[in-house]
Amino acid sequence: GLSERLQAVMKKLRGKGKVTEADVKEAMREVRLALLEADVNFKVVKSFVDRVKERAIGQEVLKSLTPGQQVIKVVNEELTQLMGGEQSKLAQAGRPPTKIMMVGLQGAGKTTTSGKLARYLMKQNRRTLLVAGDVYRPAAIRQLEVLGKDLNAPVFSLGDKESPVRIAREGVEKAKQDGFDYVIIDTAGRLHIDEAMMDELKQIRDTVEPDEILLVVDAMTGQDAVNVAESFNRELGLTGVVLTKLDGDTRGGAALSVKAVTNCPIKFVGLGEKTDALEPFYPDRMASRILGMGDVLSLIEKAQEAVDAEKAKELERKMRTQTLTFDDFLDQIQQVRKMGPLEDMLSMLPGAGQIKGLKNLQVDEKQLGRVEAIIRSMTPEEKMHPEIINASRRKRIAQGSGTTVQDVNRLLKQFEDMKKMMKQFSAMAKGGKKKKRGF
Ligand code: GDP
Ligand code: MG
Repeated sequence: GLSERLQAVMKKLRGKGKVTEADVKEAMREVRLALLEADVNFKVVKSFVDRVKERAIGQEVLKSLTPGQQVIKVVNEELTQLMGGEQSKLAQAGRPPTKIMMVGLQGAGKTTTSGKLARYLMKQNRRTLLVAGDVYRPAAIRQLEVLGKDLNAPVFSLGDKESPVRIAREGVEKAKQDGFDYVIIDTAGRLHIDEAMMDELKQIRDTVEPDEILLVVDAMTGQDAVNVAESFNRELGLTGVVLTKLDGDTRGGAALSVKAVTNCPIKFVGLGEKTDALEPFYPDRMASRILGMGDVLSLIEKAQEAVDAEKAKELERKMRTQTLTFDDFLDQIQQVRKMGPLEDMLSMLPGAGQIKGLKNLQVDEKQLGRVEAIIRSMTPEEKMHPEIINASRRKRIAQGSGTTVQDVNRLLKQFEDMKKMMKQFSAMAKGGKKKKRGF
C-alpha cells in the first residue's frame, strides 16, 4: 500500500548521513509513483512533488546535520498541508440549533454517519436531534430510527409521504422549540449525480440554511470520491467532507486529494460500521500515519495532560526524529513518572503489546537516584553519543557515580531498548494500522 511504499522511501533517506540532490530527486520519483498508484489526482501529485523538491533541495536541508530526517520532515509537513493543515472543526451556530445537512450518493454512509455524528456530539453533552429526510430508499427512516434508539437520540420523522423539504423544515423547527444544540438532517442519495437530486437538495438547503453541508463520500471509490466532491461542491457549496470506509481496502488517494481539488476540508473519517467508528480528521496525524510515524500525536495528547506543552513538544520531536540523548533520557524518566506507567501510555498504540523490552522500561523509583548519578558522571560527549561508552569509560562512570559497572551496563541497555522502541513506532504503522486503515 501507499504507506508501506512511502515508508520504504523514507527509510532509505533516514539512513543516509549525506543526502545529495540526486538522492532527493530519486526519492521523489518513488514518492510520485506511490501517490499515483494510490489513486491520488495527478495534478495534486505534481504540485506536491514539486513543492517538496523545491524545499528539500534548499541549502539548509541538505547541509544540515540530519539531512535525511529533514527531508522526511518536509514530506511530512507538505502532506499535512495537502490535507488541509489545521484540523477543521465542526461549525457551531451563534444561536442553537446548529444545523447540519448530510448529502452524498446512495450507500456512501450518510445515514450511518448521521448516527455516528449524533453520538459524537452527545458525548460532548450536545443535545442532538436526527431528522429522517430520506423518503425514497425503502426502510431508510427505519434505519435512522433504529440508530437513534441505540444511541438514545431522538429522531424526527413525518413518514415517507411528506416532502423532504417539509420534513427538514419541521425538523429544524422542532429542534428550535425543544432547545436542541444540533440538528442533523439525513437526506436521500442516488446512485449517480442527477439534477432531480441536486434540485431537491438545493431546496432543502435554501429552506433550512444549514451551518454545515457535509458531503459523505466512500473512500474506497478513490478518484471518483474526489469527482463526486467536486460536483457536489459546485452545485451546493459544501462546508466539509466526511470520508467513510477508511477501514476498508482503500488506496488512500481520496484522503490526499479531496482538499487540494475541492478546497473543502475533510472534517471526519469513518472507520467502521459501528456508531463509535468516527474520528475527527487531523491532517498532521494522518500524514504521520501514512509515513509510518505511528500515532505519536495521540500519545502526546495524553502526555500533555500530565506535562507542560513545551516538554511534550520536545518529547514528540525526539520520538519522531529518534534523536535521544542521555540528558533527554533523564528528563523523560522524570516526565514519564508524572504520567503514570509508560506501558499504559503505549498500550494505545497498535502493536505496542508486541514490543519486547517494554517491561525493562518500567522505572523503578528507587533506582532513579542511581540513574541520575550515572548520567551525571558522563561527559557531554558520552551523553550525546552513548555508543562511544566502551569498557574503560564504563568503569570510570561507575566509579564517578558510586555505582557498579553492572549498573552502568543496565542503564545503557535500557537506553538502547528505549531507542529500539522508538524505531518500532515506525514499524508499528506497518503492522497494526495496516489492517485497520487501508493505507
Ligand atoms: P447512505 O445510503 O449514504 O445513507 O449509506 P448508509 O449509511 O446506509 O451506509 C451504507 C453501508 O455502508 C452500510 O452497510 C454501512 O454500514 C456502511 N458504512 C458506512 N460507513 C462505513 C464505514 O466508515 N466503514 C465501513 N466499513 N462501512 C461503513
Ligand atoms: Mg441513507
